[in-house]
Amino acid sequence: MEKTNIRAYSQQALTDILVQLGEKAFRAKQIWQWLWQKGVTRFDDMTNLSKGTRELLATHFILQTATLTHKQESSDGTTKLGFTLPDGNLIETVLIPGRDKATVCVSSQVGCKLKCSFCATGGLGFTRNLLPEEIYDQVVAVKRLAEERGMPLSNIVFMGMGEPLLNYENVLAAIEKITAEDGLAMSPYRLTLSTSGIIEGIKRLADDNVRFNLAISLHSAVNTTRDKIMPINKAYPLPKLAEAIKYFVDKTGTRPTFEYLLLKNVNDSLEDAKALAVFCRQFPVKINIIEYNEVDNAPYHHSPDANRDQFVRYLESKNIVVNVRRSKGKDIDAACGQLANKNSL
Ligand code: SF4
Repeated sequence: MEKTNIRAYSQQALTDILVQLGEKAFRAKQIWQWLWQKGVTRFDDMTNLSKGTRELLATHFILQTATLTHKQESSDGTTKLGFTLPDGNLIETVLIPGRDKATVCVSSQVGCKLKCSFCATGGLGFTRNLLPEEIYDQVVAVKRLAEERGMPLSNIVFMGMGEPLLNYENVLAAIEKITAEDGLAMSPYRLTLSTSGIIEGIKRLADDNVRFNLAISLHSAVNTTRDKIMPINKAYPLPKLAEAIKYFVDKTGTRPTFEYLLLKNVNDSLEDAKALAVFCRQFPVKINIIEYNEVDNAPYHHSPDANRDQFVRYLESKNIVVNVRRSKGKDIDAACGQLANKNSL
């Protein structure tokens, strides 16, 4: 009999298989806890099982995990982690420390098809979707690392490599394991999925009535500018994106966030701020202004402080909630795709 991936089964399916193999049903619950609450990487680590049960598992199932193979720590404590997947692909995850708690930025795909021009991952091309367990493994590893540093992991953001809404089922299956009581039991309200604006995906999230937060990488409210920096805008131009956001807001009653990377002389003028304020009139939103980490060979530059201040002041004068996110991990290229780029995937 060919071995199968033990983490691909639902709890009920795993119970049925184990009972067929002669185990008691309660063993399945114990095994489930080892897999999804404790995130063990070897059957031998399931210490409340008998040696015979562990051998039975090893005979019938595979337990392969994403392995932490690269670690790069910035002077501000931001840590970029590289995970090697069972098929040899490399993905990256970032631990971002706060005052007394930490955030993890996870990847959802190996590479990305969307080719946003400011993003290193876009230049890598697309290899494949991550499996739910490969997304989960990133969270478990960072949770351990943060706890070792005396800092609980409190927030999860899907802002690493890949477009999560183009890997919808696997991302939602991973979120289920991360937030379930018999999984990592993390709060969905502390989890944010960030999309470049895949409108079918945004509507599907609304129909699925998700409880986590939605962020949209907007980066411009001017169609011609957004076309240039985010080619996905040609397929889903701003009016269609606005329609999907309205649908999401109406159905879920939540307020999305717009991510806005300020790029010098591209999207940081007063005119850009005015266009953004007009776009924001359509729904309740808040805006995160993000400083740009310059990428090797990228044609963009960090926006000067004066442009940023003028931009923010204008939005605030229109009563829009704005947060400015200072760059973290500048000295380790902690922006999506940059580690993978340097390791020449
Ligand atoms: S910014 Fe996100 S969606 Fe755009 S290319 Fe990079 S990974 Fe893909």
